[in-house]
Amino acid sequence: MTDKLTDFSRLAIHTMTNKPWNLEQAIDGYCRAGVPGITVWREAIEPYGVKEAARMLKASGLKVVSLCRSGFFVATGAMDREQARTENRRAIDEAAEIGAPHVVLVCGANPGVDLPMARQQILDGIHAIEPHARAAGVKLAIEPLHPMYADTRSAVNTLEQANNLVTALDSPFIGVCVDVYHCWWDPFFRAEIQRAGKTMLAFHVSDWRVPTRDLLNDRGMMGEGCINLREIRSWVEKNGFHGMIEVEIFSNQYWEWDQDRLVERIKRAWLAEV
Ligand code: ZN
Repeated sequence: MTDKLTDFSRLAIHTMTNKPWNLEQAIDGYCRAGVPGITVWREAIEPYGVKEAARMLKASGLKVVSLCRSGFFVATGAMDREQARTENRRAIDEAAEIGAPHVVLVCGANPGVDLPMARQQILDGIHAIEPHARAAGVKLAIEPLHPMYADTRSAVNTLEQANNLVTALDSPFIGVCVDVYHCWWDPFFRAEIQRAGKTMLAFHVSDWRVPTRDLLNDRGMMGEGCINLREIRSWVEKNGFHGMIEVEIFSNQYWEWDQDRLVERIKRAWLAEV
């Protein structure tokens, strides 16, 4: 089993984890707490505009780990699919501007599109935006989502599917994002981490609360649920991933907390549980 982490050098936090904070407050809060990495959600950029957000991030000295999130390639109409691609190209440009090496793709699903068709639309959509990513020098990280989100969020629900897309698209600018919350239950998770190899671009952590009280916003703090987090970390590290580990917790409960206190809580869980 992998050793505990003894410092915060690989800690990154998603701005969405501290949703009550605007980007300025998040940057400030992470700097104050000695958190070196930030994953920026597009919602956090919006009030500032990308140029100002990029300036703030650069001045902070924080490492921008990734831009979340884009994708959503699935739609019933061709016009909507084309608009989604345009929006993805915009996200790629934003990532380049803020210095994020990749954009996380939540690939999309639509109850009006059956799953095999949705998966084809996702493949076509990523294929269509790949040249833009390549030109910008920004990678695309395909994040499989837990199957409970196969209705409206993503028709890519296992790491095997994400790896299959990477194989099919065959580009050095396309890889996978591994989120323990979405994949911990999968009997082929370990094997697919091995298969992902160097195409694994990102690693998201939280925990699966028992019971889960809300499908969207009830992720647990690391150690609070049933995910074998340290064992999973040993798998990804054995496989050569030593990048930043991103804390991504959507939680109505934690969003009510004082956010400085939440960051301290994350740091304690980081040392004890990750
Ligand atoms: Zn994630």
